Amino acid sequence: MIAELEALAGFRADVREWCREHVPADWVARMTGASVDESLEFQRVWLAELREGGLAAPHWSSEWTGRDYSFEEEIVIAEEMARARAPRLDTFFVSLYHTYGLLMEAGTEAQRRRHLPAILDHGEIWCQGFSEPNAGSDLASLRTRAQRRGDVYVVNGQKVWSTYAMHARFCLLLARTDPAARKNRGISYFLLDMRTPGVEVRPIVDLGRRQEFCELFLVDVEIPVENRIGEENEGWRIANSTLSTERSTLLLMPAEQLRVAYWMLVDLARTTPGSGGRPAIEDVGVRRDLAGFHAEIANLRLLINRMLTQMIRAGGAGPESSIIKLYYSELLQRFTCYAAQLGGMKTQELAPLLGAAPYVSGVWEFDFLNSYTWTISAGTNEIQRNIISERVLGMPREPK
Ligand SMILES: Cc1cc2nc3c(=O)[nH]c(=O)nc-3n(C[C@H](O)[C@H](O)[C@H](O)COP(=O)(O)OP(=O)(O)OC[C@H]3O[C@@H](n4cnc5c(N)ncnc54)[C@H](O)[C@@H]3O)c2cc1C
Repeated sequence: MIAELEALAGFRADVREWCREHVPADWVARMTGASVDESLEFQRVWLAELREGGLAAPHWSSEWTGRDYSFEEEIVIAEEMARARAPRLDTFFVSLYHTYGLLMEAGTEAQRRRHLPAILDHGEIWCQGFSEPNAGSDLASLRTRAQRRGDVYVVNGQKVWSTYAMHARFCLLLARTDPAARKNRGISYFLLDMRTPGVEVRPIVDLGRRQEFCELFLVDVEIPVENRIGEENEGWRIANSTLSTERSTLLLMPAEQLRVAYWMLVDLARTTPGSGGRPAIEDVGVRRDLAGFHAEIANLRLLINRMLTQMIRAGGAGPESSIIKLYYSELLQRFTCYAAQLGGMKTQELAPLLGAAPYVSGVWEFDFLNSYTWTISAGTNEIQRNIISERVLGMPREPK
């Protein structure tokens, strides 16, 4: 046990040293107000740097990265990256988490060999084409149609809110293959090459004045049969597994960044005047609020540790991951709102930080607006509550 702890401490020292040498000290300044192209280029360079250091995808198996990390080491990496205020690989989050998880669970060996090295070595960007204008929370109602004709499926339909689709080379696509079957039974899962004729991408401007997600229009798009994942009409089961990934390990780094942001909030309270012109941190109410956030962030980390333990035991995150997503997103929203209120007008004068991970950048008004992405994406919080009540607590199902 002591030897294991010492080894982990040694590992932490190595990662800390790596961060000291490699995290660009000026990246926040460089990315503040950067163009989309500049931010994309920055993300690619950072991915390559992390890959060189063996730190780009700590959750991937050694077959693809040359190195297996334990869950404890994964946590250490997330903690040290957050501590060093390293940028997150946001542009690659679908590639590194969803695509990897999907291919390892349901992909063929040929699909893995084609796509996983391309992600890690060449920074191939992926997007997710699940949601449609009338199928978000009720995803099983999706209408995009895929009809088999010989060796291809011909796809027609529309997707929406597809993050980074404008930069993506591939898309994880859900489409209906059997319109006669019960709605979640007739769906299949495909890997769509975004360069296929008939794919049109239209970016949408979001609340934070950024263009990150897009509409996708698919007209007679041909997808080769070998780009189907799993069996025909098995897509719903596979997609649910992809979604629980989105609500689980992916939150390791954001949760650690929230912990770092907490100390930024404490600094803000020290430098902002409170009642009687004294620093806000001297107000009893502010101190109580700060202590509350401190305790809640500690709770979040404990929840994540519990989920990781569950993953080691059961091999997957399961519906409990909804608890983490719910807790993190609501905490982030209250936290950034509090900081924006405490900082007052001066938090609104700061330029938005484009590029990696603006959710806890310390540009508080902007962070607050962005915090809403977490309460909606990957299933809204109302849906998370339904999942928790029905699948974790065993309460009666929602009436159809
Ligand atoms: C930042 C961001 C990134 C995203 N990225 C992607 C992406 O890459 N790919 C992708 O496919 N999608 C993506 N989405 C879409 C996201 O998955 C959907 O927005 C989400 O599932 C909600 O669907 P909707 O917007 O259609 O809202 P609706 O489903 O229309 O919901 C509207 C409101 O009704 C509530 N509601 C609906 N049904 C119930 C119910 N049964 N019980 C209680 N309340 C209910 C919802 O909680 C919500 O408040 C993204 C969204 C955001 C915000």
